[in-house]
Amino acid sequence: MSMKKKRMALLLLCGICCFVSSFDSVTPHTPAGKKARLRTVIIDPGHGGFDTGTKGLFSKEADVALAISLKLGKAIEEAYPDVKVIYTRTTDIMPGNMPTLAAGLNYRAELANKSKGDLFIAIHCDNDGHPAGPFTVHKVIGHKYVGKGRRRHRVPIYESYPGQHNRKGTTVFVWKADRSGFKGQAISERGEGEVSDSSGESQTGDSAAFDMNSPEAKMRTRLYEKKFFDNSTLFASLVNEEFIKSGRVSEGVQQRDVGIRVLQATGMPSVLIETGFLSNVEEEKYLNSEEGQDEVTRNILNALKQYNTMLGGGAPQGDTSPDSSATPAQPK
Ligand SMILES: [Zn+2]
Repeated sequence: MSMKKKRMALLLLCGICCFVSSFDSVTPHTPAGKKARLRTVIIDPGHGGFDTGTKGLFSKEADVALAISLKLGKAIEEAYPDVKVIYTRTTDIMPGNMPTLAAGLNYRAELANKSKGDLFIAIHCDNDGHPAGPFTVHKVIGHKYVGKGRRRHRVPIYESYPGQHNRKGTTVFVWKADRSGFKGQAISERGEGEVSDSSGESQTGDSAAFDMNSPEAKMRTRLYEKKFFDNSTLFASLVNEEFIKSGRVSEGVQQRDVGIRVLQATGMPSVLIETGFLSNVEEEKYLNSEEGQDEVTRNILNALKQYNTMLGGGAPQGDTSPDSSATPAQPK
């Protein structure tokens, strides 16, 4: 087989493998007998610089995502002083000051991969497809005939009314399993010896004599891909449950294959969190308030604590007795 064919076959296999695996129940994957824990968490505030993201009446997504991201990073560092937090940006710039969206995306993924992240969290805000503020909905309520003779034709009758920005709530995205070819590529490009399995031990033992195109390497890539998908889904479910516990409206955990390429390009468990709708005035106020940002931060941190515990990691700083929220729950 040519290299190209080999690559295609590998991508196809990865796709099938992950598609099949998505039917498995989600269980945390921890190698038996190893103390697993998070070491490096990558936080990716969406958009930035020339890319404002979605706009509310008085705020823009790039700013809100950054504010929540910085609070989240600080909260993680306080709870786990030995966990390294790496941000893709800490000011209002396109990450790496890149000139295009595509270059910015590559920068985010490369930074995450070379930093050997164990978990990638992208923070975003949603919109309902209409610009914030008043808008008019035109709805077809029937048809009528106009003109005479051969010019007579049917035209729609519209009813116009003011639109409502009703849609609100959170969504947690994981990459779509049957399109995970990128993920397999990201994992194999990250290279042998560089894929940490969240156990705190990189798999370095046999790196010297390892051929990335060998069947063993391909099998390994597929196994990691499955593990990362399962762990992404697990973390996403925990975040979603925390949002629901706080009384947020939730659109649940969803798989998507557009607009989340950054999740596919990172060789680690990764989620994209839509923290609420900036098109909805109520949620825009919430997401811009200290209380709102603190609550979202707490929700994600609580999920991260449970996730880390389920991986076999230690209790967070200051927690001497096991917190009930950090008790490993049976994943759904
Ligand atoms: Zn966004």
